[in-house]
This record gives sequence, C-alpha cells and structure tokens, in this order.
Amino acid sequence: MDLSSLDIKYLPGVGPKKAEIFAKELGIHSAEDLLRHYPYKYVDRSRFYYIHEISAEMPFIQVKGQIIRFEKVGEGHNQRLNALFTDGKETIELVWFKGVKWVLEKYKTGIQYVVFGKPSPFNGRFNIVHPEIELVSQLPPAEQMGLQPFYNTSEKMKSSFLNSKTIQKIIFPIVQSIKTGIPETLPAYLLKKFALLNLTESLVNVHFPKNADHLRRARQRLKFEELFYIQLNILQQTKWRDQHFRGFIFGQIGHYFNSFYNDYLPFELTGAQKRVLREIRIDVASGRQMNRLLQGDVGSGKTLVALMTMLMAVDNGFQACIMAPTEILATQHFASLKELLGDIGIKFALLTGSVTAKKREPIHEQLRNGELDILIGTHALIEDTVQFENLGMVVIDEQHRFGVEQRSKLWKKNVNPPHILVMTATPIPRTLAMTLYGDLSVSVIDELPPGRKPIQTFHYYENKRQGLNQFIAKQVEAGRQVYIVYPLIQESEKIDLQSLETGFEYMQEVFPNYKISMVHGKMKPAEKEHHMQKFVAGETQIMVATTVIEVGVNVPNASVMVIESAQRFGLSQLHQLRGRVGRGAEQSFCILLTDYKLGSDTRKRMEIMVRTNDGFEISEADLKLRGPGDLEGTQQSGLPFDLKIASLAQDGKMLEIARNAAKEILEDDMKLEKVENRVMAEQLRKMKTNTLNWGSIS
Ligand code: ADP
Ligand code: MG
Repeated sequence: MDLSSLDIKYLPGVGPKKAEIFAKELGIHSAEDLLRHYPYKYVDRSRFYYIHEISAEMPFIQVKGQIIRFEKVGEGHNQRLNALFTDGKETIELVWFKGVKWVLEKYKTGIQYVVFGKPSPFNGRFNIVHPEIELVSQLPPAEQMGLQPFYNTSEKMKSSFLNSKTIQKIIFPIVQSIKTGIPETLPAYLLKKFALLNLTESLVNVHFPKNADHLRRARQRLKFEELFYIQLNILQQTKWRDQHFRGFIFGQIGHYFNSFYNDYLPFELTGAQKRVLREIRIDVASGRQMNRLLQGDVGSGKTLVALMTMLMAVDNGFQACIMAPTEILATQHFASLKELLGDIGIKFALLTGSVTAKKREPIHEQLRNGELDILIGTHALIEDTVQFENLGMVVIDEQHRFGVEQRSKLWKKNVNPPHILVMTATPIPRTLAMTLYGDLSVSVIDELPPGRKPIQTFHYYENKRQGLNQFIAKQVEAGRQVYIVYPLIQESEKIDLQSLETGFEYMQEVFPNYKISMVHGKMKPAEKEHHMQKFVAGETQIMVATTVIEVGVNVPNASVMVIESAQRFGLSQLHQLRGRVGRGAEQSFCILLTDYKLGSDTRKRMEIMVRTNDGFEISEADLKLRGPGDLEGTQQSGLPFDLKIASLAQDGKMLEIARNAAKEILEDDMKLEKVENRVMAEQLRKMKTNTLNWGSIS
C-alpha cells in the first residue's frame, strides 16, 4: 500500500478531528508523514541512577526511592511545592510550580516510586522540576524498559491528548505494517558504499529502537538521506544554471579602478581587502557568473570592497547597483560614495522609497539610456519600473535582510544574470552556507583597519544603572557619543514604543544638559533621517533608538552602545548592534542590560558576547543555541526546507560526505537518467512538489 496516500484520519486512534490538529500543528497528513515524524530524543529507561551519580549534564535520569516529606513554599501565585526524595542514602528535591493540590492527593510519603526527569543543581543540591512519577510496583517488565522515544508536540496537541505517548501508539501499527519492506529511497550502490541501513530497518528502529546501536545506525541513514537530497537538489540547480547562463566577462582593470586606487583612496587597503578584491577579480574574468558571499565583521571595510567591485563593472562598460536593507543605510552609502569618488567622473544616484515620483523619472531614464553608472538604493531598486541598460554587477549589503525572492528579482534585470556580491557582517556558519547556496563562493575579511581597539563588553543587571549613568556622563564629557537601544518587535509594538519613550524621557531627566535624539521604526523616513543626521553630525550626544540603527550605520565618534533588555535579542543581533561602536580610534564599550531572571540560554548568550568579538564564533554559537531556523541569516529569507533529523550544528561532517556523494553522481549523470539513478530523480520530484520554496535560487 502507498502510505503517502493513506490519510491519517483513517488510522486507529486518530479520526477527523485529531487529523486536523496533526495537519495544522505539524503539517502531517498521510501515514508516510507520520512515519517521517521522528522522535526528537530517546531516554534510556533501562538504567536507574543513584543520587550520588547525578551530574548537571545528564539530560534525564530515573531514581528509585521514596518521598520523605512535602513542603509548601510561598504564597498564592508564587506558591510551589517541594518534596524531599531519597534513594536511601542521599536526597534530591522534587519541585512543582503548578498542580500542588493534585500532587499532594496523588503521591504519599513512604511509598516506593520511580521519579524521572531532568536534574538541575540548585542550592547545593539537585532538584527535578515537575518529575514524572510511577509506582515501582507498576513498572513494566525490565525488557520493555529500553529506549523510550519522545515526539514533538505542541500545547494545542497536548490539550487534545496528543502527547508523545499517544503519538507513539498511533505510529505503532504503521511501523508494524512496513516490516515486510517498503521501497528504498536511496540507490543500492550508495547504501553499500556508506554501509547504510536500508529504509525499512531505519524507520522501524528510529521509532522503536531494538537497542542503542540499531538506533544510531537508523538515525545515521535517515540523516544521510536528508542531507543528501538537499545537496543533490541544490547542486543540480547550480549546475543547470552554469550551463544555461554565461557570466559577463570583465576583461580589464581600467581607468576608474586604477585612478581611484592611485589617486582617491584615502587609506591603504588592508591585506584582507586586497585578497578579497583579487578573488572577485578572478571570478569576473572567468566567464562564469559570480555568486560570491563576502563576510566581514562590522567595521571591516566591506563598503570599500563593494565600491571597487562596482568600478570593475563600470570600467568594462557595465552598470552596477548596491542594495541596502534600510533607507538610512542606503543614504549613508550614497554619502560615502560621494565622498570617496569625489570628482572622478562617475555618475551615480540614490533611489529609495522616499524619492518622489518626479525625481525618479530622470533616474529611470538615465538608467535605461546608460548615463547612470551606479545606482544605490533600497528595495525600491528591485521594482519592475527600474530597468537598466546593461546591469553587470549587483551588490547586496547585509544580505540576510533580503528574502530569496527579492534577490532573484535582481537576477532578472539583465538578459544574462549580473554578477552578484552579497555582503554580510553576520557570518553564516559553513554548513548553513553550503546548504543554502550550493556552490556560492565565500570571501572573508578577517582583518580590521589598523588602529581599532577591540570593543569591551559588559553585562549589567538593572542595579548598576546609577553607575552606568555616571559612565555615560564621563564619555560624553570626553566628547564621545552614546547609543541606547531598545527592543522593538512586532507582537508588543505598543509596549515597546512606550518603553522607548519612557527611556527617552528618563535620559532627558538624568542628562538635562545633553542633547538627545530618538529614532524608531514608526517615524516617517524623513523624520528618522533628520534625527539620525543630527546624531551623525555630532549635534546630539545621545541616541535613543530601536533596532532601526542596527545595520551599517557609521558614526565613528560613538563609543558606547547600551542595549536595554538585552535578553530579548538574539546573538547575531547583539553582535550587529555592538558593531555600531568601535569604528573610530577611541576605546569603545558595549553594555548589555538585563533583568535578573535569565534562562540558561540567555545567560549563555550574554557570556558569549562578553567573552568574544569574533563574529564567526558568535554565529556558530548562535547556530548551536537556536538551530538554523531561527538564525538571523535564515529568518527572513527562510530555509527552503525543514530539517527533520539532521542538524547543521552537529552533522557538518556528514553534510560534507553527502555533498561529495551528490557531486560525484551529478558529474556523471546530471539529469539522473541512468537506471540506477532514477530512484533519485523520483525522490527529488516528490520533494519539490511537497516544498514550495525548493526552486529558489541562491
Ligand atoms: P562594514 O564592513 O561594517 O560595512 P565599512 O565599510 O562601513 O564597514 O567601514 C568602516 C569604516 O572603516 C569606514 O569609516 C571606512 O571608511 C573605514 N575603512 C575601510 N577600509 C579601511 C582601511 N583599509 N583603512 C582604514 N579605514 C578603513
Ligand atoms: Mg556595511
């Protein structure tokens, strides 16, 4: 039977109502979808621990023993219940924040229980919050106490009694039904080459592991399959593109590039800038269309590389454009280009949402007739009305802010796609880059311009505010400028705006003698620009803002970045914000202010920020803490697929193996037409119909 066409509502224990919840919450429609809903963890329930063996790293443990006494702590809303539990030798604390009455009715002192849960150190002892408790007398026989799978559910599912245990029950008969064998999705020669478990065995064991070794092999095979098909798909697309598009050839380094380099460049390029320019130079002369990612920490001088890359295009009779994610940033690029290019004789213009229709007309006209060499802008420049005579080079700044679709529109601005340089200060971990971009080449600026001092970062709680204010005053007296940043996210826009305004008023009260600007996303662009400019010009000393100032803004005199409610920002965002200071010769500081109550992940984020300025280290840490779906780099653009079992943070090695395998196969049979490869063509076809975004370009 074809499990992909078996609707789960016909499965025992499901029915139409639960089927609907499955579809809504997890995107599960068919029996096959359920089979591919893998457990996210397994707990070994064959082993009982003694309390003295417990360590903080243990994910889950079970201990046999009895409750010595109960104790209610706190009042009303803050009430919790503690129970002292002993294995006969030592004790741990069991803790409940909810259901106190129910717990007291259900569990008694002096009875033999098994408690099960995650231990955490607390007040010099271990505790388990909301443990599972079972009577020792009711435990299943030892041989059934093996690896217990845990399935992802949601709050909504749990309230309809679709918890991990019920899911396991629903899956059980499906797994039974496939034991006679289901069609393999990988070619036999790959299974053999990498000694992989077949699909049937893998699916059976991933849900009901025979033992730890079978589970390991099952997961390995399923991870390989997942990573392999992602790579096969993206590499096939890239290959196809290479065959169908030629890249424009910029054969010469010409007048503008040379004259800029010799006569206009205000400083020596760093070694890293030079290396990256050489890499780009080789690409654009190769006849292949360049698709290059430029990673470089904030302040590393990417703009200059962008400019000189665009000059290569202009020297060869092409137009170039640079797209920035915000109006402020585009305007700032325009200003820097103006300053850098001086009277060199290149024509460039700024196109943003706030350029009036009347002023756009001549820009459009000059782009079409080729008079304009370089266009600087925001999203406005991907509009259909913007047409170039001969666009040869596209630079996308802070690329993570743009979606795949927006980027693909730029591709279509010329008959052949232009060369593409995407720049980011938020490094993308290697595994993620490989997965998102196929053969995208990566350049790295790993060197800051000379004379910069590393930013010092501190994490303070609210109680340090007085001291912080004194510190701010000192810096301002020394002629520096200060940013105070507040979070602003969609869901609580109103509250956030309020706290920003309160913060602004507070600063005015504390510093009556200083001039203070305020900028936020709800302002009209012109108003924003006005206040921003005042800060840039040094007319105001303190800038109170939301994250609108996050990206690219360059005020070298600003030396302090205070981030309010820092717990609400992700690592990459914190790193981006911090990058707004440390751009001049002065020692700069970043202060992370947080609540007292921090989760362990948040505390880790703060620790990492305090410890390192290295963007690569930060992005790897971010990937490990949050997983790729939440990373800055992928949030907006979206991962074109869902990883069900493999992890980009942990399976880098396997990703590489899968990628090489895919490459080798495509070298030999790009269309996957050979008999032994047809199973892969069929798999790819299935994946593409299942996933909307698959056809996306890199
Ligand atoms: P980012 O990589 O964050 O976009 P920018 O391009 O804005 O960095 O550069 C940050 C600052 O460093 C700018 O003021 C720029 O003029 C300056 N800069 C860039 N390259 C050099 C260099 N080689 N030597 C000295 N200063 C430089
Ligand atoms: Mg920049």
